[in-house]
Amino acid sequence: MVSLYQAQKKIYPRSVKGLFAKWRWFFVYATQIFFYGMPWLQWGDRQAMLFDLEARRFYIFGLVLYPQDVVYLAAILIISALLLFLFTAVAGRQWCGYACPQTVYTEIYLWIEKKLEGDRSARMRLDAAPMSASKFTRKTLKQMAWIAVGLWTGFTFVGYFTPIRDLAVHVAQWTLGPWEIFWIFFYGFATYGNAGYMREQVCMYMCPYARFQSAMFDKDTLIVTYDAARGEPRGARSRKTDHRAAGLGDCVDCTLCVQVCPTGIDIREGLQYECISCAACIDVCNDVMDKVGYPRGLIRYSTENALEKGWGSKEIWRQVMRPRVLVYSAILAALCIALVASLFMRTPFRVDIVRDRATLARIVDGNKIENVYRVQIMNATEKPQTYELSVAGMPGLELVTDKSVTIDGAQGLWVPVRLQLPYGGAQSGSHEIQFQVQSTESGRVNEKSVFLVPR
Ligand code: SF4
Ligand code: SF4
Repeated sequence: MVSLYQAQKKIYPRSVKGLFAKWRWFFVYATQIFFYGMPWLQWGDRQAMLFDLEARRFYIFGLVLYPQDVVYLAAILIISALLLFLFTAVAGRQWCGYACPQTVYTEIYLWIEKKLEGDRSARMRLDAAPMSASKFTRKTLKQMAWIAVGLWTGFTFVGYFTPIRDLAVHVAQWTLGPWEIFWIFFYGFATYGNAGYMREQVCMYMCPYARFQSAMFDKDTLIVTYDAARGEPRGARSRKTDHRAAGLGDCVDCTLCVQVCPTGIDIREGLQYECISCAACIDVCNDVMDKVGYPRGLIRYSTENALEKGWGSKEIWRQVMRPRVLVYSAILAALCIALVASLFMRTPFRVDIVRDRATLARIVDGNKIENVYRVQIMNATEKPQTYELSVAGMPGLELVTDKSVTIDGAQGLWVPVRLQLPYGGAQSGSHEIQFQVQSTESGRVNEKSVFLVPR
């Protein structure tokens, strides 16, 4: 029987201390304080960041976005993607190694695992041992903690789309709707599965970014490198031996760099696509170098060019401003300026005109032709606003319903509008007209429509 899948050995990453481990934990704290904390933040009497799909309104602090503003969200997504491209071209897979949710949650799940089952060798012994009361207790506690983190993450995720305080009440009273239950459990299960079990498999087989990022790499991109010229030939040695005289390089072949690697690779075999640039191997190797009294940096962040040409950090920095980086930066800067300018210049209300489909045109009292419309006005500010409605485009055309409407902050309203024209005031057919909606505080919007004159 030919297996379609490669059998995977379970990886037991050894915990590591050092400068880059501290940075990794810094990003765990920063991203999770933001993710778990943001939905609880209030802005006036509402949630500061809420993507209310049901009401079709997105709130981001003082900004209220309607479906018509989707272009801003698209621009934010394009800017984020470009930022990632730029960052990858300069600094390689730092996003993967430090801030990607997969890395962050794996770090949290590994921390729980280490607290309850011990570090690498203890975990390996525990897994190999037969079931006992102690093993059962540890494994159960770990599962409970993992599930709790997964469910809390799912709850928080849903809290970005449903007011989280109401959601908490619904959870406490178990009065959640079917979609809320589905998403809390689905997102919670995905977190639990990805961070608890799939781990490096997500980076190696599922992540699209891992697939296309090599297109953004060049010989000046920062990568985690092993200095083979300095390290080889590797081998164990006694502390008292002059390893150079014995024909050995600086690598003592302790294999700690392999043991700490979350993707289970040996960086000494060169750059591999599995490497997520987390620098755990740098931290542990620096530690080893300190212990044996050799200079740090046998494994370090460097570039292919720097390794080939023996460059130091000055030359590496000089290569940062290369054409590819300048092009990415220029596009990014132009997009950011355009986004900020259009956000500042945007009229803080939206108008939609819909013709009444039931009545195309009719003759009413006073020998007039009447067309009926529904005008939707969406107030994208936080305060009540008054809007004046008028119409232009045909001589004698008159708006006969209320010309003024007041709408509460962040609310939309459908206003029925009737337009009348004296009979014989225009030829039969369709005539282009403009609705004008003037806010007393914040500008004017013109919307085109048509007025039908029957034969
Ligand atoms: S941690 Fe450093 S010294 Fe130890 S095997 Fe890896 S490269 Fe060699
Ligand atoms: S090789 Fe080093 S930097 Fe790459 S994933 Fe493994 S530990 Fe992280």
